Amino acid sequence: MQKRQLLIHTERGRGLFRGRLLHWYDGHKRDLPWRMSHDPYHVWLSEIMLQQTRVTAVVEHYQRFLKRFPTIEFLARSRLSSVLAVWSGLGYYRRAHMLHAAAKKVVKEFGGKLPARPGRLRTLPGIGRYTAAAIASIAFNEPVAVVDGNVKRVLQRVLGKTLTGEELWSAAERLFSRRRSGDFNQAIMELGATVCLPRRPKCLLCPVLDLCVTRGAEGREEKTADQKKRKICYALDCQDGSVFLVRRPEDASLMPGMWELPEICVPNREPKTWMTFRHSITITDYLVGVAQGPAPSVKGCWVTKSRLPKLPLTGLTRKILRAAKII
Ligand code: SF4
Repeated sequence: MQKRQLLIHTERGRGLFRGRLLHWYDGHKRDLPWRMSHDPYHVWLSEIMLQQTRVTAVVEHYQRFLKRFPTIEFLARSRLSSVLAVWSGLGYYRRAHMLHAAAKKVVKEFGGKLPARPGRLRTLPGIGRYTAAAIASIAFNEPVAVVDGNVKRVLQRVLGKTLTGEELWSAAERLFSRRRSGDFNQAIMELGATVCLPRRPKCLLCPVLDLCVTRGAEGREEKTADQKKRKICYALDCQDGSVFLVRRPEDASLMPGMWELPEICVPNREPKTWMTFRHSITITDYLVGVAQGPAPSVKGCWVTKSRLPKLPLTGLTRKILRAAKII
């Protein structure tokens, strides 16, 4: 343990770490659509979509989004409701609001081109320290290290100590490869996502095993807090080729302004449902029931089936309408 600990704290150890990690990344990186391009807009979009979202969910939305909004200028000119419609199903809709606002700012203040420097990137809505560093390094090869949840876990295990705040950024910068900054940042995040896993790190497959202080012996992350459970029931009222929908308030904390089926509340009684399924949103697991029949008397409107794909629907409503073969 002592020897390994010493090695990773030397320049030679850090050089070995960089070389092995990059070599592993070149041969093992996942084939993801945003890795085909260094276009700053593509990198930016993928980084925003990947925040708190699984890679598999992002792949489908990323390609659809770029097809619909191929450039920053096009995105800036588009209506927010169209952006939300394409974002539907990906969750955390505040990201879509910010992306749209940032596109407008890029066109107005930066001539339609995303700036390369992290400091300037951070003046844009929805871009914080991590995202600015990721875009700057991946799209522009700026020499700046990143720290996200995956990087934090790898660093703490490799160095064998708990790190917080600025200590993490300094540790990332010390190990960082200035020569291939974008690749290095992606490589360390990829290691955390595919090998140095939170609960069961695959140390035998790890390219930096012999430089790692803990080798998976410590720092296994506990399961996060239990998900909350909730039952919810919606009315699916479909008449003459139209569906009755309600719009969420503009000031709602979740999914403001998006369209959904009306909720049915039946105190002390389970409504008779046509379909039930499970659906998770952030920290809540819902048991969702859908009752076919007249909608409750709430403020809403009838939407023709042909308009539905263009409307910003909540992911849950889209799921129900798909299951009912309405869209
Ligand atoms: S050896 Fe194990 S704990 Fe250390 S970095 Fe690799 S996967 Fe993580």
